Amino acid sequence: MKAIRRFTVRPVLPDSLQPLQDLARNLRWSWHTETRELFQAVDPEGWRPADADPVRLLGNVSAGRLAELAGDPQFLRRLTEVSDDLRAYRDGPRWYQDQLAAGAELPAAVAYFSPEFGVTAALPQYSGGLGILAGDHLKAASDLGVPLIGVGLLYRHGYFRQSLSRDGWQQEHYPVLDPNELPLTLVREADGTPSRVVLALPGGRSLHACVWQAQVGRVPLLLLDSDVEENAAGERDVTDRLYGGGSHHRLLQEMLLGIGGVRAVRTYCRLTGHPAPEVFHTNEGHAGFLGLERIRELCGTGLDFGAALEVVRAGAVFTTHTPVPAGIDRFDRQLVARHFGDDGELPGVPVERILPLGTETYEGGEPGLFNMAVMGLRLAQRANGVSTLHGAVSREMFSGLWPGFDPSEVPITSVTNGVHAPTWVAPEVFRLGAGKVGAGRAGDALSGGPVEGALDGESLGRPGGTPKRWDAVAGIPDREIWDLRRVLREQLVTEVRKRLYASWRRRGAGTAELGWIDGVLDPEVLTIGFARRVPSYKRLTLMLRDRDRLTGLLLHPERPIQIVVAGKAHPADDGGKRLVQELVRFSDDPRVRHRIVFLPDYGMGMAKKLYPGCDVWLNNPLRPLEACGTSGMKAALNGCLNLSVRDGWWDEWYEPDFGWEIPTADGSATDEDRRDELEANALYALIEDRVAPRFYDRDAEGLPERWVEMVRRTLATLGPKVLAGRMVREYVERLYAPAALARRSLDPAAARELAQWKARVRAAWPGVAVDHVEATAATVAGGSAELGSTLSLRVRIALGGLDPDDVEVQVVAGRVDSGDAIADAQAFPLKPAGGHDLEDRWLYEGPLALDRTGPYGYTVRVLPSHRLLASGAELGLVALPAEGAVEEAVDGPGVLLR
Ligand SMILES: *Cc1c(COP(=O)(O)O)cnc(C)c1O
Repeated sequence: MKAIRRFTVRPVLPDSLQPLQDLARNLRWSWHTETRELFQAVDPEGWRPADADPVRLLGNVSAGRLAELAGDPQFLRRLTEVSDDLRAYRDGPRWYQDQLAAGAELPAAVAYFSPEFGVTAALPQYSGGLGILAGDHLKAASDLGVPLIGVGLLYRHGYFRQSLSRDGWQQEHYPVLDPNELPLTLVREADGTPSRVVLALPGGRSLHACVWQAQVGRVPLLLLDSDVEENAAGERDVTDRLYGGGSHHRLLQEMLLGIGGVRAVRTYCRLTGHPAPEVFHTNEGHAGFLGLERIRELCGTGLDFGAALEVVRAGAVFTTHTPVPAGIDRFDRQLVARHFGDDGELPGVPVERILPLGTETYEGGEPGLFNMAVMGLRLAQRANGVSTLHGAVSREMFSGLWPGFDPSEVPITSVTNGVHAPTWVAPEVFRLGAGKVGAGRAGDALSGGPVEGALDGESLGRPGGTPKRWDAVAGIPDREIWDLRRVLREQLVTEVRKRLYASWRRRGAGTAELGWIDGVLDPEVLTIGFARRVPSYKRLTLMLRDRDRLTGLLLHPERPIQIVVAGKAHPADDGGKRLVQELVRFSDDPRVRHRIVFLPDYGMGMAKKLYPGCDVWLNNPLRPLEACGTSGMKAALNGCLNLSVRDGWWDEWYEPDFGWEIPTADGSATDEDRRDELEANALYALIEDRVAPRFYDRDAEGLPERWVEMVRRTLATLGPKVLAGRMVREYVERLYAPAALARRSLDPAAARELAQWKARVRAAWPGVAVDHVEATAATVAGGSAELGSTLSLRVRIALGGLDPDDVEVQVVAGRVDSGDAIADAQAFPLKPAGGHDLEDRWLYEGPLALDRTGPYGYTVRVLPSHRLLASGAELGLVALPAEGAVEEAVDGPGVLLR
């Protein structure tokens, strides 16, 4: 029978157990072991570690059990301890407060927008890396005391749950998530009515949403939900699924996230007294409309569009997450136009000012499209990629927006992602470390938080400093490390069998057919993990390239390997589903099915068991399409070694001590098929010749000494780098703090001045030119000069009516390649010398020291210059000497040759 109405009966807790409510609703339990253990004690049978959920647990526990606990002094003592600990965590000063106390100028608050958040399996609002990163960002911010407000959408079905058909085809399920059963609280007005956010839609319709709040330690996460009664059916479904639906649907989701998100933040701050954010951080382009909403707000205070844009840019940070075009949202221009302007949202912000923000004004750009990443870059003065390599790739990819500048000067920096160790380090691994240094210090070290008397000498007394090495790990005996690896592998084997069994039952197998599952995987065998979403660049099936060779590795008589694979393909991606099917079919083969398994429904719960249980984490993307990748970091934190193409973070931090690099054929093999073949062969060879022999090379006591040493180095040296705490501190110091300062210096008068200055400079720029360059040095003759000599440069510049104060004239010099392009360019300012001549040309002078040997070259350029610009490339304006317009003095005193 189907119920005609569904509602939730909330548990009534005895008074003495009330603190359990707070503990259940604050998601800190998801990374705080003592809190989890407390809930486990409430109902040891009902607690399922893989998908733990205290709210559900409290909903299911019997009144009798509650009465029992209320009379158990030992339990009550523990409860008091744990809830005192949460209070101290929530209210006490942390790293950020220490920085403020020491005089640092930091934002009063930061709003962090993301289309998905992976905080815990109990709040399934993520599809993959982007969401988990956002969740880790919130948790690390909480640990560090950063006053962040997270903003996202609450999807009624989350992403999707994956299962398999009998023949291995991905099946999608969309279970309904009832917010009343999730760890969420409805944001309400003072009078108790639920708060509302409303957006105007074309045709006089409107989109209403309520706001749910999840509490992530100290950090509130606001999630907008369109499933409210005021909405018509179509609008109710706006927040139905993450990354579902067509273009129009996505646009509405992104308008709700960006525009509605800002309104939700305003509501939250009004109701709670939380300080207003000074910085708005857009995690990928999807939330980009938030900048437009802020422009609207500012226009309402009397600023014009240009001045408002400057204020918004100053306080905005944009993070780009992918060099894969499919990962970037692009809308039809007309569709965007229809939703803004007189008949839509943001009255007062002219559509003709909005559309150019998303226009792809570079070669190959599509004039009919509105690109959210491009708008993100135009609406934020500060932007970054998510690993050093991805920063470089992004500068290249978006360099068309800064014509005339070398990609290296494109104002996109990088902050390499990190992972939240308290979430991702298995309790067994943590205990091993805690056994050496004490739980408190080990916990602080993992959160990248205040490390008192840190784990190594270097960071002693440096509050908030993460040690560069966790030296304590060095003292752990080989035997203990190896025993731990074995325990984790064994747990994984058990977990895999359980999940595989459930999967086969779903695929229609009877219990009698499934006896073989008891023999799947072997806790003594080298275990390789590979789990991720299944876009084609991640190459799920590269390992299947030569099936016989793979089979040989799996069934090797002395040095076998076993592989655990998982991953979801996007529901609309049949190509990805075919890859899943290929893998499933291979692993269904009775010859190898005990050595390779595909586990459906990859998610955080599975991931937490998978990373620690593997010996080797495999990643073989098409370089350089993996912006960062974070699963390998989580694996490393558990002592798993990486075997990966040098892409994303592994390009930056690879060391032979931490694992192996799969050589990439990017550049050499233009044909994709050939490239796959080369890289797959390299992968097999590595496993065969290096990985497996090292794993199975045992000493007299049965220990693989050299393997254990790699595990130890991975934990001690790689561990501290990959922390989300390190990442968030970098965001604070390198992006949030400068953005807040920039924002503060833009009072309305300064904003107007900056906007007018930019308009004046843009208008005058066609008249700016490098007319003439002369270099004086007796030694520059016949094209060569001596190391250590100095050129004197004199340059005539036309300023087109601008003042010398409006520009900087630079000599840019460095090594030149065969095509005369300057590599490793360095820029030195030239100084104005005297006034202008009758033709309004200005003289600039300065020395250029020739401090390196070999082919060398220079040029001169003019850039706009203003104290409120974050970089010389900001306006994308530059004047360079016209071809053939320059003559150089090769000899004699400074004589103008023209
Ligand atoms: C970490 C994580 C990811 C992201 O992994 P990548 O290496 O970036 O592909 C995806 N899904 C889950 C469940 C994760 O925990």
